[in-house]
Amino acid sequence: MSSSSWQLDHEAAAEALNRLRSAQLVLTPTHQTVDADGLASAIALRLGLRQLDIELVPVLSDGQMPHSLRFLPGIDEVLAYGRDSLPDYDLLCLVDCSDRRRLGSFYTDDPERVSGNVPIVNIDHHVTNDLFGQVNIVEPTAASASEIVAQLLAEWGVEIDRDIAQCLLAGIYGDTLGLRTDSTTSRTMRTAADLVDAGADPVPIVDALFRVKPRSTVCLWEKALRNVQYTGGLIWTELTKDTLDRCGANASEAEGLVNFLVGTQGAGAAALLYANDKGWRVSMRSLPGAVDVARIAAEFGGGGHPRAAGVQIEGGEDEKRAFVEQVGSLAAEHG
Ligand code: AMP
Ligand code: MN
Ligand code: MN
Repeated sequence: MSSSSWQLDHEAAAEALNRLRSAQLVLTPTHQTVDADGLASAIALRLGLRQLDIELVPVLSDGQMPHSLRFLPGIDEVLAYGRDSLPDYDLLCLVDCSDRRRLGSFYTDDPERVSGNVPIVNIDHHVTNDLFGQVNIVEPTAASASEIVAQLLAEWGVEIDRDIAQCLLAGIYGDTLGLRTDSTTSRTMRTAADLVDAGADPVPIVDALFRVKPRSTVCLWEKALRNVQYTGGLIWTELTKDTLDRCGANASEAEGLVNFLVGTQGAGAAALLYANDKGWRVSMRSLPGAVDVARIAAEFGGGGHPRAAGVQIEGGEDEKRAFVEQVGSLAAEHG
């Protein structure tokens, strides 16, 4: 674990606040297939900025609310794209989003939305962030976007109340698997401890994110584990729509499976392939010292972090095979 830590860019933080203050309404579309960090950091911004009379509205970009995140305070104030009408907005504030294509239907339905006509404040921690904002607060060594938002809100004079603390701790726990990843620093732990002092309770977070699940999840994992394959240094499995249907499961229930597969002896990386209309959405993981999955993902047009990354593969079985073999040989080379 490293004790070194990132430094907030105070100038960018001040400029972001200026832009937020002058906006009538700020829209915060989350990244697609949103996770705890992406959603909780957006809600924490909403709750915190409300203290400064700034109206920020989080929107689920693909309209999908993962069941496991319904416990977050303030969840009822989150809009779903495609279901709720969008309010008029004059500023976008993106958080935990490495590039604009991550905005799912919000982007594909009208790419002009994020072409810069409406200014963008970009708050993120992905090493692959392409700095698409007018203001960029991007700290790749922060373990989560929530860790950055915790410091930003404090810098802006927001009081971290119990609900804000609960959201931010959920975001930190989500991206660090409960303070267990190598991205976790002593500062991450201190921030988490401060949030507990502010009233956050880790128990419902750990239950919701890592323990409580419907039976359909067990069905899904059982089928996915039966199909595990080893290709070079890669351990991988695939989930089809048929499998989801047979289990009555939602794709978000497979989150965690790739974290279970990584660390299998003899495999330098793990991948979970979700079949979709265009091909496969892929989740990748590696352990410290092994292959950098963010680099592999970036080569295929995706992104993420060195130990956790993702990509969309377009095509059919041939493209899938080529991808798996390429990642398998890189994973074998780099242990
Ligand atoms: P996941 O495997 O979905 O938990 O994602 C792991 C990390 O990779 C997260 O930080 C995601 O934001 C990032 N990521 C996943 N898919 C993509 C993609 N298609 N493009 C860029 N980044 C991605
Ligand atoms: Mn995320
Ligand atoms: Mn994140």
